[in-house]
Amino acid sequence: MKHYDLLIIGGGMVGASLACALRPLIRRQGLTLGIIESQPLTNDPGVLQPSYDARSTALAWGTREIYEELGLWSALSRNVTPIRSVHVSDRGHFGMSRLEHEEMGVEALGYVVENRWLGSVLQSDLQSDSTIEWIAPARVNRLRAGDTGMLLELDKQGETETLSADLTILADGGRSGLAQQLGIGERSNAYQQRALIANVTTSKPHQGVAYERFTDQGPMALLPLSDGRSALVWTLPEDEADAVLSLDDSAFLQRLQSRFGYRLGRLQRVGERFSYPLSLKWTSEQVRPGLVVLGNAAHSLHPVAGQGYNLALRDLMTLVRVLEQGVAEGKPLGELSLLSHYVALQQQDQTRTVGFSDRVVRLFSNQQPLLNQVRGLGLLGLELSPGLKHWFTRQAMGLVGEPGHSRFD
Ligand SMILES: Cc1cc2nc3c(=O)[nH]c(=O)nc-3n(C[C@H](O)[C@H](O)[C@H](O)COP(=O)(O)OP(=O)(O)OC[C@H]3O[C@@H](n4cnc5c(N)ncnc54)[C@H](O)[C@@H]3O)c2cc1C
Repeated sequence: MKHYDLLIIGGGMVGASLACALRPLIRRQGLTLGIIESQPLTNDPGVLQPSYDARSTALAWGTREIYEELGLWSALSRNVTPIRSVHVSDRGHFGMSRLEHEEMGVEALGYVVENRWLGSVLQSDLQSDSTIEWIAPARVNRLRAGDTGMLLELDKQGETETLSADLTILADGGRSGLAQQLGIGERSNAYQQRALIANVTTSKPHQGVAYERFTDQGPMALLPLSDGRSALVWTLPEDEADAVLSLDDSAFLQRLQSRFGYRLGRLQRVGERFSYPLSLKWTSEQVRPGLVVLGNAAHSLHPVAGQGYNLALRDLMTLVRVLEQGVAEGKPLGELSLLSHYVALQQQDQTRTVGFSDRVVRLFSNQQPLLNQVRGLGLLGLELSPGLKHWFTRQAMGLVGEPGHSRFD
């Protein structure tokens, strides 16, 4: 049975980013690191993994800082669209707020990247590194505790193999039931909503503005993309999503136009449409001896506030720092006290970010008259109160420390 110091289950956006972040540690210490991914590897941006589908992701400013630290920003930034301002509005209400990059003293509040591009940058960077072993396509079917660390049973194109590791990071997106096999519980709040995703071409240029619009059916976002396109994330009640998905392109654009309005002129063209059920999920345990649960496997958020991936990156950077410190002090990688320290350090950020996304969605998806008034006031309040607006913008930018300092200061 082959043994590794570290094994990552899932080479999606989170697992691959973690491998990049671990690289200095494994080189310095001569550690072994493997990533097990059930999809075949590819550098061809035309072939998609589940993580790198037609979706785009809004990267917060804090995430740019992370990718700069990892030496990946110059490659990534070749295909990102800066968000210069965020326009927040509430359909049928007067409240409106605009968050500007100048107010925060940065060149952009964040960036929109197509998952496909992010995936290919991460994968090609890791594949050129001989210190990291990709084990793909291979699917982990069983995960259990061994004497030292975890034991992983893999299906490698029809052959079964068992591997072991001092520290296993479960970054499977919560898709494969491995956490449940270990008896790790999951709490979830279903929003009874689906997210419709598509790229839309508009007659007016977006000029780097990201639109967040709250409607009586749920929030929608149009994020600026290259070539005059915007990335749509449209939340709809479950029962309506299928009907909207099955509309032909022109009826779909008409429906969207009536919901979104004419801020970007006429909505002219729509690409392929996808839909995702939405819920807030989080595991009851994120660490055990020899195990860390990370990314969507640990917590999955409503996409409207664009926080899930950004939070996962902050988590993984903290984990890497804790591991570096632990190794320097001679501690085993899988020691529970070390891993619990990671959770303790990230707890406040996780609670705040999950709470922020959840509150925004609930407040702005609700039809009750009193809440309607409160949310109108909420947006006006945001516009009128510089302190509140500054806080909101910093949260959206992924800068979660004290005002005036990035969390890596
Ligand atoms: C519509 C939508 C829009 C979003 N927009 C944003 C946004 O703007 N900003 C933001 O911060 N976040 C956003 N998010 C959240 C973001 O997409 C997630 O945080 C991110 O995809 C989580 O990545 P992950 O690597 O944890 O999981 P995944 O992307 O699911 O990757 C898991 C990987 O593990 C592999 N795998 C699974 N099981 C196994 C197994 N048993 N063995 C081996 N490999 C396995 C899979 O093939 C996959 O490659 C959005 C989410 C949605 C649904």
